[in-house]
Amino acid sequence: MIRSALILSALTSSVLACAKHDNHHYPETPHKKRAEAGESRDWEYATSYDWGSLNLDYELCHTGAHQVPIALTPENGPATSHKPSFNYAGSHDGNFYNWGFGPAFTISHEEGNYTGNPSLTYDNTTVYLTGWHIHTPAEHTVAAHRAKAELHLVHVDAEGNPAAVLGIRMEPGTSNSTFLEQLPTPMIHWNETDSEEHLNMNLGLALEDVENLDEYWTYDGSLTTPPCSEGIRWFMARRNLFTGLEQMRAVLRASRFGARTTQQIWMHNVNG
Ligand SMILES: [Zn+2]
Repeated sequence: MIRSALILSALTSSVLACAKHDNHHYPETPHKKRAEAGESRDWEYATSYDWGSLNLDYELCHTGAHQVPIALTPENGPATSHKPSFNYAGSHDGNFYNWGFGPAFTISHEEGNYTGNPSLTYDNTTVYLTGWHIHTPAEHTVAAHRAKAELHLVHVDAEGNPAAVLGIRMEPGTSNSTFLEQLPTPMIHWNETDSEEHLNMNLGLALEDVENLDEYWTYDGSLTTPPCSEGIRWFMARRNLFTGLEQMRAVLRASRFGARTTQQIWMHNVNG
């Protein structure tokens, strides 16, 4: 029972920048996970340009001034503000699963207590990593180029509210990603949202794969799935996380199209 309670807690408090928020504050759960698989999602990526009309609760998807993703350019980077420092040391137990669009992982933690999770500090604010998920293709473009995939590391405040997301673009390269090497293969498929595997992960390897975020963009953003809630600080790594060819194909094989249409830059204050 204790173990189940811990897992359930991790599940409901996890996920996607996108999902966790909903679990606590919204009736719908976008980035749904295994535990909530009985609920139905009323949106699809194929119509992400018009999410605002699907449900009155999704109004921000159309009216928001800080919607994500956006098109980034080398000219507006790298940032020097909101400089992040990471404490991703150690390895953490959690559950590997598929959020319905690609591979995902949520960190196990004591119910309501995130302070033992890996953390990120910026502007004298510390937020806690709850897990990650992968979008294919990438949601952000850089100089009009869209990478094959994008990793989102989702952080919450001490109360569990989504607060910051670190995005890392992923491209096939010449050697394996040490971060991805931790994942069991074949990866849980996008239509196997009822499956999960216990996994112990060193999350810091994602940072090492991009030189510890030595260069980045940062801006005021939102969740990238309905209800598109705002007030989320975004960090986007300038460097790509390179994967082996077979690693990328394994990610793509487990995924389906999961990228929201690009949003106009408005009040995002990129690198401000
Ligand atoms: Zn995401």
